[in-house]
Amino acid sequence: MLIVQKYGGTSVGSLERIENVARRVAQAREEGKDLVVVVSAMSGETNKLIEYAHHFSKNPSRREMDILLSSGERVTAALLAIALQEMGHDAIAMTGRQAGIRTDSTHTYARIEEIRTDAIKQRIEEGKIVIVAGFQGINEHGEVTTLGRGGSDLSAVALAGALKADACEIYSDVEGIYTTDPRIEPRAKKLEHISYDEMLELSSLGAKVLQNRSVELAKKMGVTIIARSSFSDDPGTIISEEDESMEAVVVSGIALDKNQARVSLREVADRPGIAAEIFNKLAEEQINVDMIIQNASKDGTTNLGFTVPQSELERAKEAISQGFGEEIGGADYDENICKVSIVGVGMKSHSGIAAKAFSTLAENNINIEMISTSEIKISMVIDEKYGELAVRTLHEAYELDK
Ligand code: ADP
Ligand code: ASP
Ligand code: MG
Repeated sequence: MLIVQKYGGTSVGSLERIENVARRVAQAREEGKDLVVVVSAMSGETNKLIEYAHHFSKNPSRREMDILLSSGERVTAALLAIALQEMGHDAIAMTGRQAGIRTDSTHTYARIEEIRTDAIKQRIEEGKIVIVAGFQGINEHGEVTTLGRGGSDLSAVALAGALKADACEIYSDVEGIYTTDPRIEPRAKKLEHISYDEMLELSSLGAKVLQNRSVELAKKMGVTIIARSSFSDDPGTIISEEDESMEAVVVSGIALDKNQARVSLREVADRPGIAAEIFNKLAEEQINVDMIIQNASKDGTTNLGFTVPQSELERAKEAISQGFGEEIGGADYDENICKVSIVGVGMKSHSGIAAKAFSTLAENNINIEMISTSEIKISMVIDEKYGELAVRTLHEAYELDK
């Protein structure tokens, strides 16, 4: 039986915790499992390295950032291997390159294209526990790349898929996937099971417990993820294809994304093609636009609003200010917003779910500024200061604590 385990930043956040992980890995080994263990950098380490770079430059070169950031994961991989060796186990640490992880060339946000598994397979056959530095790979020119924040989850899922592992266990500081972030609502309940689609919505909408690209890949490759805690023996949450029992649950989770900003364009020339030009321009700058609202036109102009990740707001401002001249009357930007989302596959077959969300927020005097829906989610933009309150009241309204 081959298991891929991934330990996140908190789980390897100190030398004692790395020792704790080593004991858990050793135990799984003693149960007779073959193991590939993916590790994150120690918690806070990646942020610290980014700050160091920003000390010298507002816009550091992304190639150099990848060399810098990939170092954090190498440290933990090596330390874990050393700890295991000291416990009498045959462990070997590998960088992304050594593990055969090939990516495209988009520095700091690379996509995995292929995993050449020969080297890892050979080590497993030799009876070794393979420890892989997460979050990194190399491109076709041998340059180091990283996979975007939270990217060790993606390394683990991709390895589990390529090696056809029996399971991919992702360990963090919570016992699994909860109905909402337990830090915001302590009454949140752990779910036994959640579908890929629901998890993908939750993680894309702000629940950072799993990186959204990793969930997307797990779905594509059919990798079953088990989200667990490295500090307990709880069986965790299984993330897999949906089954009928899941449809019976109308709302399975609530997510809060505080890293959003709103762009409001006033008096936009109302002519065919203008929206295409604006959003093409943003797409060219690789800005991820989410909710879009256009008002009915008046006097030949209209208002156009949309949200972007806060980290992309500056670039959005630049893109808008260049090139549209008279065609846009003015622009306002607001970072003090957040997005609250309700997710559940059961929404497909139930009605009145959205109305309940709107009235719950109304009862709490929370104004909804934007709304978007899909088959399995409802997202609402509200004032940032009410984000947590909205999560808690919605959690209660849908009886997720029951
Ligand atoms: P790691 O560093 O191990 O990758 P993360 O910090 O990325 O772990 O993810 C775990 C955190 O995700 C938890 O501490 C929790 O606060 C947060 N979180 C947000 N939404 C959820 C949710 N629905 N269920 C569980 N945890 C959640
Ligand atoms: N260390 C990286 C980050 O903080 C990758 C990860 O932890 O998954 O984003
Ligand atoms: Mg994470």
